[in-house]
Amino acid sequence: MTNLNTPVEKLSYVGPKMLPRLRHLGIKTIRDLLRHFPARYEDFSKLISLAEVGEPKVVVSVRGVVRKIKTDRIWKRRLAITTAIIDDGTGKLRVVWFNQPYLQDSFPEGTELSLSGKTALDKRGLYLSSPVFEKIGRADEDLVHTSRIVPVYPETEGVSSKFLRFLIKPLLDKLGGIPDSLPAEIVKKYNFPAISKAIKNIHFPKKLDDAEAARKRFAFEELFLFQLRALLDRKNLEKMPAPKILFDKDAIAKFVRGLPFPLTNDQRLAAFEILKDLERGRPMNRLLNGDVGSGKTVVALIAMYQTVKAGYQAVIMAPTEILAKQHFGTITSILEKQKINNIKVGLLIGSEARQWPTDEITEADVSKKILRNKVAKGQIDILIGTHAVIQKDVAFNKLALVVIDEQHRFGVGQRMKLVKNQELAPHLLSMTATPIPRTLALTIYGDLDVSLLKQKPGNRPKIITKIIPARRSAEAYEFIENEIKKGRQVFVICPRIETPLETASAQGGLPLTGQVSQAKLMWAEVKAVTKEFEKLSKETFPHRRVAMLHGKIKPKEKEKIMNDFRAGEYDILVSTSVVEVGVDIPNATVMMIESAERFGLAQLHQFRGRVGRGEHQSYCFLFTSSGGEFGSRLKALEKTGDGFELAEMDLQIRGPGEFTGVKQSGIPDLVMASLGDIELIKKARSEAEQILNQSPTLANYPLLRERLEYIQKMVHFE
Ligand code: ADP
Ligand code: MG
Repeated sequence: MTNLNTPVEKLSYVGPKMLPRLRHLGIKTIRDLLRHFPARYEDFSKLISLAEVGEPKVVVSVRGVVRKIKTDRIWKRRLAITTAIIDDGTGKLRVVWFNQPYLQDSFPEGTELSLSGKTALDKRGLYLSSPVFEKIGRADEDLVHTSRIVPVYPETEGVSSKFLRFLIKPLLDKLGGIPDSLPAEIVKKYNFPAISKAIKNIHFPKKLDDAEAARKRFAFEELFLFQLRALLDRKNLEKMPAPKILFDKDAIAKFVRGLPFPLTNDQRLAAFEILKDLERGRPMNRLLNGDVGSGKTVVALIAMYQTVKAGYQAVIMAPTEILAKQHFGTITSILEKQKINNIKVGLLIGSEARQWPTDEITEADVSKKILRNKVAKGQIDILIGTHAVIQKDVAFNKLALVVIDEQHRFGVGQRMKLVKNQELAPHLLSMTATPIPRTLALTIYGDLDVSLLKQKPGNRPKIITKIIPARRSAEAYEFIENEIKKGRQVFVICPRIETPLETASAQGGLPLTGQVSQAKLMWAEVKAVTKEFEKLSKETFPHRRVAMLHGKIKPKEKEKIMNDFRAGEYDILVSTSVVEVGVDIPNATVMMIESAERFGLAQLHQFRGRVGRGEHQSYCFLFTSSGGEFGSRLKALEKTGDGFELAEMDLQIRGPGEFTGVKQSGIPDLVMASLGDIELIKKARSEAEQILNQSPTLANYPLLRERLEYIQKMVHFE
């Protein structure tokens, strides 16, 4: 007897070859298989008689008996053409398949077939071209692939929708009572279909409305589970003790007064929220979300300053070495200006170690080993490094605050690894420049408190953004030439190469073949950027110094190019989208983006944020070859500099896949698809809160608890 936990290999037709492929789709058990939902449907439900087939280029479903069948081979074109004549009593129709010669043996004369596909016309008349086919068996047997609404699944190489339908359909027919983990009162309140009916309808609906109702139920269910997890995580964290760091108002006020600039109100508020969190004796779990250039570093520094004053250590982790060095520079220069020499700062990255203040430092101190030793003894107060280095091999003495730049997620496990020998959990502040729309903050980051930096600090001039149609590019180049004459520098970003996967999903369809490898894609991008580099350095700006950056360049070399660009050795830097987030080059005033319509709004906004970081007026040029629909989207960029507004828009248009960090986070597809639906998200959140109020450990909801444990387990296996 099969049940939901039965492994799929127990099904006949799932052999050792198929098993890893199904795993690749995340399918291990019957439950997973039943929850592998269609991405879309083909509506083949309108069955007509052969006499009614009359025009080319329409999708039809027909039935008939095979009267004649043969296969012709055209060797020169390596083509096998199988032609059958079918007959249903009202008329006859020619059917053609390409390169499937085995069909001739599968459909001997007399076979009754159900076919769905598109009609076409050639010099011999009307025919049905490469239709989906299915033999008609016993009269009481349902059709699976034709003459109905047919599910189309997310596929992978070697696992077609046809095969998945073939596996799933018989399971549905045998489906007994499935236990429903969604509480009955919720099912009733929202009038959701019951679980068994919903499973049947999402796979093989009679009407598309039924599929839609089922989908809505499952979307709610996933969101609800997500919210439960976030709320439970939060509760568990609340149980852990953390260092109590008292908010020393006088010391902070003095530190803030000594900064080279007045804080913005948003920075003040964020710092206040953080300092309040640190006092609680419970681990802080806060996200500091602010656009590129909004001044997150100094807010983090205030928190680190307070932490160190209280006798603890703080660490800040950056995604790359360049950014870690940048933090080291910013932080030590602020401390230096205030003559705060009693706070010791260390920089630890793959290639080097540094310490500040430098007075008492000898040659030997630039060794990584010595720096690590000092950290372990508590002689370094603030350690700066990359995620990788710090997580791997550093032991702290009294670590109380972990700041993470540009990595949104940091689990409790990772947090505790940093403080192996301590009883207290450290406070966590993660920072991101990716503007996170409200719906995402409520779901994916539902276990985090959020502080927002919306204002731009200082009185830097607003970046002027302009859409440049191909025919006006000469003017733009002239403008750029003038900026370079004034001593300014220019970024050029080259188009992203779209994968067939993205193109297909943008058109609402699925790719028919497997995914193109990342490596191939990378090479395509390298080619594009090289071409642009040649054009700019040889034709457009032959008298200027142009450099190129892409993903195939070694990290060391990349860093040298970036450093040289920062030092003013180049006028123009041509790059793929690898230019690092957060890189600060105040002298760069022009961001020029080729084929801007290929990027999402949020990403374009990120690129734009790389200029306008100094006192000079800066510009963002969006080069585009197509107008129309894309044009109107790009106009939003011309109009607003508000990253949050653009991120909301991007989420509506492109879905959440584009947000860094979200893509890799293992979020169920249905949650992803629902992220635009703020109402549904709010409902899921409030229902989750209510359930936990009634039953804090879910003791009254054993099925729900079991389901959450199952999900938790899956997450840990990854
Ligand atoms: P991000 O949020 O992108 O990490 P940074 O912290 O790197 O931004 O800050 C960007 C620049 O703005 C830095 O040069 C920093 O010194 C400066 N800055 C930060 N806050 C202010 C402020 N309130 N007024 C003026 N300049 C500021
Ligand atoms: Mg930053």
